[in-house]
Amino acid sequence: MTRAVLDLDAVGKNFGRLTAVDGVTLSIRENEFFALLGPSGCGKTTLLRMLAGFETPTRGKILLDGADVSRVPPNRRPVNLMFQSYALFPHMSVRSNIAYGLEMEGRPAAEIRARVDEMLATTQLDGLAGRKPDQLSGGQKQRVALARALIKRPRVLLLDEPLGALDKKLRGEMQIELKRLQHEVGITFVVVTHDQEEALVMADRMAVLKDGRLLQCDTPHAVYEHPADAFVAGFIGLMNFCRGVAVVEGVRARDASLIAGALPGGLATGDEAIAAVRPERIMLFPPADIANRTTGTVEALAYHGLDLQLHVRTAPADKAFLVRITADTADKRAIGIGDAVELGWSAADTRIFRI
Ligand code: ATP
Repeated sequence: MTRAVLDLDAVGKNFGRLTAVDGVTLSIRENEFFALLGPSGCGKTTLLRMLAGFETPTRGKILLDGADVSRVPPNRRPVNLMFQSYALFPHMSVRSNIAYGLEMEGRPAAEIRARVDEMLATTQLDGLAGRKPDQLSGGQKQRVALARALIKRPRVLLLDEPLGALDKKLRGEMQIELKRLQHEVGITFVVVTHDQEEALVMADRMAVLKDGRLLQCDTPHAVYEHPADAFVAGFIGLMNFCRGVAVVEGVRARDASLIAGALPGGLATGDEAIAAVRPERIMLFPPADIANRTTGTVEALAYHGLDLQLHVRTAPADKAFLVRITADTADKRAIGIGDAVELGWSAADTRIFRI
């Protein structure tokens, strides 16, 4: 395993009586693409600003390469923060914007020229060096901001909602581009986002925060497949939920049907519990020996290109179940609103949480 660049040890931050960050402990590794994710107000920006040095922790410690930097000012940390607004100098060319940091350090002109050329190539801005920021597209401006932040070769690049200003299509392209760039420069990236899909696409590991607390820190795959609690399960991707009571075989739903699945450690029979299953794990017209089976009525259909999402009203759940099937299956089965359907999923695809 690669070693840690940043270690957060029980880091907390209060603003007056408000606890914005509450005892967060985690390690961010060398050369890692790390995402801080959570709903608005969960404390992710405050955490990022503490890593940058713009805020001081009220409690706990931040270690960078093993040294306590909790009280070191931003300009004395080998860390760079890229703002969402990009903060480019409007009167300066792309080349001058990128060169600025090295010029402030008083580097020799030849070195600056060589390093700017290298950054222009890395960020694919070669042909645009002479332009001013207002002659660039949103995606190009973002690449200039990245080049400007990376040219000083920080140990860690912090990015606050880096794709927030871009439209949906460009966001998708830049997610891949950002990941390529991180891989190429080999610098640790810590990205703040409220967009769970973006974190799933880009991050090597992600931390999910709520109300200032760390709920889970793991790879996107582990968080998606084994969410730590019902909040994470609902926040990352789509999930169907069914409330009930824990029994030996799973969860007894309110309509008395059994949802088969393994109980997590710490949950005793008789406890209130919630069973969950991902839409893509539900089969329509399942085989006879499937562990979980229910019938329902199709309430709505939503096309998503190749996929189709069915909203199916069933007895065990309070809300309509989401079921993802291919458009091809829907065509073959000629499924329409009002149709009665059978749903099924295996016990291994049920996740059970305490409430
Ligand atoms: P968003 O996605 O909306 O940007 P966030 O997860 O980044 O949210 P923060 O900006 O870290 O959340 O804010 C966490 C909490 O701390 C919020 O309740 C916010 O109002 C509060 N907060 C943040 N900065 C300050 C400040 N300087 N003074 C007082 N309260 C603050």
